[in-house]
Amino acid sequence: MVDLIPSPETVMTILKRTGAFREGHFVYPNGKHSPHYFQMPLAFRYYDTARVLAVALSNKGEVNPCIIVDDIIRSGQAIEETAKLVKALGSNVIGCGAIVRFTAAPDKLGVIPIKSLVEFDAHMYDSGDACNDCVSGAPVEHVRF
Ligand SMILES: [Zn+2]
Repeated sequence: MVDLIPSPETVMTILKRTGAFREGHFVYPNGKHSPHYFQMPLAFRYYDTARVLAVALSNKGEVNPCIIVDDIIRSGQAIEETAKLVKALGSNVIGCGAIVRFTAAPDKLGVIPIKSLVEFDAHMYDSGDACNDCVSGAPVEHVRF
């Protein structure tokens, strides 16, 4: 029997294989440094991978009138703004999910649990002074999101 919800390890293997999970030395637009970067569109450029991830995430929750789904939740800000917009449009959000959720991001949207296929403990440093890669002189890559 096929497991419709792959393990977090299997999802991470998919994200690494597609190049969506990258390791290196990254500086985010907010100035934070990290040895990790998720470039999620890379995981969705292949139909088979997109299908596996989308079906898995859809099986994490029940069928509901309004479910917000994102590829990655880094801070939770985007999904909270989306929920406010949905509410302003007269609908209720009763489900929420993402392929990857940073553990520092909220795990609930109000009282609704945010379901994800991977809970990722991202290492983020507030400045280059606190970043091990900066201290060691590793080349840096600036990322957009
Ligand atoms: Zn750094």
